[in-house]
Amino acid sequence: KTAEVATPKRTKEIIAKYGFSFKKSLGQNFLIDQNILNNIVSAAGLDETKGALEIGPGIGALTQRLAAVAGTVTAVEIDNRLIPILHDIFEGEGNVGIVHGDVLKLDLKQLFEERFSGVTGVSVVANLPYYVTTPILMKLLEERLPLENIVVMIQKEVAQRMAAKPGGKEYGSLSVAVQYYCEPKLVCTVPHTVFIPQPNVDSAVIKLALRDKPAVDVPDEAHFFRVVQASFAQRRKTLYNNLTALVGKEQREALTTLLQGLEIDPARRGETLSLEEFAKISRAFLEVGW
Ligand code: SAM
Repeated sequence: KTAEVATPKRTKEIIAKYGFSFKKSLGQNFLIDQNILNNIVSAAGLDETKGALEIGPGIGALTQRLAAVAGTVTAVEIDNRLIPILHDIFEGEGNVGIVHGDVLKLDLKQLFEERFSGVTGVSVVANLPYYVTTPILMKLLEERLPLENIVVMIQKEVAQRMAAKPGGKEYGSLSVAVQYYCEPKLVCTVPHTVFIPQPNVDSAVIKLALRDKPAVDVPDEAHFFRVVQASFAQRRKTLYNNLTALVGKEQREALTTLLQGLEIDPARRGETLSLEEFAKISRAFLEVGW
């Protein structure tokens, strides 16, 4: 077996050996800390019956840890310069598969069928490239992949927004979208010093446990998310003002009556509404054809 990748010494050796140069545009910050890796891997609850999908393995710091506990690991890396390095490092490790590609463009359903048909559950575990965190997570959730959980290192502020409860300034459409599909939990915050090179932002590890069914029952998901988006469109405005922009000025009075009928004060702001309240509004709008 190869030596532990995630130490400053070994990481620098690998980079020097292959003449690798970091691309900021691909969000390349490699982990060099054992404790953080332990926290990430244990949060996923993997064992030999489970599969792990890693997005952006870099030179394999996390991949190596995943391979030690999961039955099978598939790592998707966009940077073609890293592919031969990963092949060298994981040569002879039968449970690691390296896929060259952009996770945003891959057919993940097909990849799951090919790679994870024999496992009892799959986790996504990754130190994500920060420039595409939200699109990657939304793709994983919206495609309804058969996932048990997602454990990812992301920018701290984004993690806080995902886990935010109604009432605070961090709560917004991202919180609702994530909590519709998952139960979020902050695992730990992470200092810059555990990466080479060090990122300019603070990081955190978040665990998203997939719900068996969405948090609220809505007949039309796209409509529900349109209501949510509209409610947060102008954060200083009231729910009434934001929703008027969605349904049209001529419906103003009907909108007030409808919200009052739902026992939702039109003067509230979107950031105070629970998922169930957004769901109530969406259901009521659909009934009157809005
Ligand atoms: N997992 C490694 C670690 O923790 O040391 C590297 C993490 S680094 C923050 C993010 C990795 O994602 C980089 O290796 C980068 O090349 C890769 N990456 C960036 N965009 C990607 C995409 N769209 N699809 C797949 N991988 C991507």
